[in-house]
Amino acid sequence: MSVEQLGKLIVITGPSGVGKGTIVSLLLQRYPQLRVSVSATTRQPRSGETEGINYYFLSQKDFETAILNHELLEWAEYAGNYYGTPKAQVLEQIEQGNYVILEIELRGARAIANMFPAACRIFIMPPSIEELEQRIRSRGKNSEESIVQRLKIAREEMAAKDEFEVQIVNDDLEKAISKLEKAIFSENTE
Ligand code: 5GP
Repeated sequence: MSVEQLGKLIVITGPSGVGKGTIVSLLLQRYPQLRVSVSATTRQPRSGETEGINYYFLSQKDFETAILNHELLEWAEYAGNYYGTPKAQVLEQIEQGNYVILEIELRGARAIANMFPAACRIFIMPPSIEELEQRIRSRGKNSEESIVQRLKIAREEMAAKDEFEVQIVNDDLEKAISKLEKAIFSENTE
């Protein structure tokens, strides 16, 4: 698609709890010109999450309507809920020449790779699965059932890390961010 020549799509994937959110918010503080796509989800808001900032929180019916109306660039079911990227805002940002970050799970990342082969695709890994479990538990935002489910998905996602052109282990936040900066701002990511 020609819009890709203008801006740049940056897909950041990695298991739940790996620290994608922290990395992306630090990156945004340093590079306010970057844009982040706000996803739609049917999951319940967590404490501290705000409509339109963290997610657009939709009912299942509204989400399904958005799918039928082709309003989503990609969508996937994850741990019992729907998550998807609103199409209009992302395309508009790219057409305006912006760098747009999508923080999405594996199947969504694969769909984007098919649609936008020039997208920069980055996989964030934990130092180990044990460390990941500890991080998910310590943030205290998921039920036991959801933790078990997220760890199962994490193992599946980690097995796909080689599909991504850049892999970054998040053991040291500063090092992880500097690798991410290089991946995002290098000219030849295709
Ligand atoms: P959480 O419930 O922890 O906020 O997100 C669960 C998973 O859904 C994370 O891996 C997150 O990256 C992913 N996710 C968030 N938004 C989207 C989206 O728009 N599309 C897809 N495919 N995954 C998403």
